[in-house]
Amino acid sequence: MTNADGSYRKCMVSTSAVFIGHGNPVTAIEPNRFSAAWGEFAAQVERPKAILAISAHWFIQATAVTAMEHPRTIHDFYGFPDAMYQIQYPAPGSPPLAERVVEIVNSTRVSLEKDEWGLDHGTWSPLLYMYPDASIPVVQLSLNGHESFDYHFKIGTELAALSNEGVMVISSGNVVHNLSKVNWGLPDKGFDWAHSFDDHVRQIMLTDPGKLPSVVTHRDFRYSVPTPDHFIPLLYTAGIAVASGRKVTTICEGYDLGSMSMTSYRVG
Ligand code: ZN
Repeated sequence: MTNADGSYRKCMVSTSAVFIGHGNPVTAIEPNRFSAAWGEFAAQVERPKAILAISAHWFIQATAVTAMEHPRTIHDFYGFPDAMYQIQYPAPGSPPLAERVVEIVNSTRVSLEKDEWGLDHGTWSPLLYMYPDASIPVVQLSLNGHESFDYHFKIGTELAALSNEGVMVISSGNVVHNLSKVNWGLPDKGFDWAHSFDDHVRQIMLTDPGKLPSVVTHRDFRYSVPTPDHFIPLLYTAGIAVASGRKVTTICEGYDLGSMSMTSYRVG
């Protein structure tokens, strides 16, 4: 995927962008119908040459992209079974892809992260099911928590160029994600407000994804998105859909623990 001088090689391979509703971290060791759907999706589309992952769990005060040769597997959760902390996802990095991201994102400054981060569970949990051999190079893009929904959507439109270069952009979060309202007695179920907001977002994504930043005015936004970290990755997927002119469809739909939507989307 690189030229002899190390620059990133462009090629005309059409690859989808996706949004994965990753949900409970324990899915990494306890497969369910959602993780099965992620794997089925990956089996249906052309295998990407590289992956740009945009995870809810790298939520910082800057827009950065990992640029190390060998990103570490980060276990960014607490109180889970020991087996969760043994998981490794040893995919290589891709400094040339990181440079390419810096090149195509012109609306803001993107810094290269060479030491601190790696791959967090928002990235490797879905990838364990999508590409379990961990041989595809992966870089992660951070979310700048100081910026507006329009800012993130705009970057998504710029990243659409990668869809024609064999790079799959995998955004990972949850449309509805309210941990303070989790009810462990409601597996596979969602509260009425969770359904209402998830339905609203689905209608926008399937018909007019350019309107996604406007969801802040919806009646159930405050309950569904009490913090923006898990919603923001979807703005990137919406931006890619608009810029590429490709249709959005769902990969899987459903709820967990009352206050989490597991809806996942694909572009093209
Ligand atoms: Zn999460």
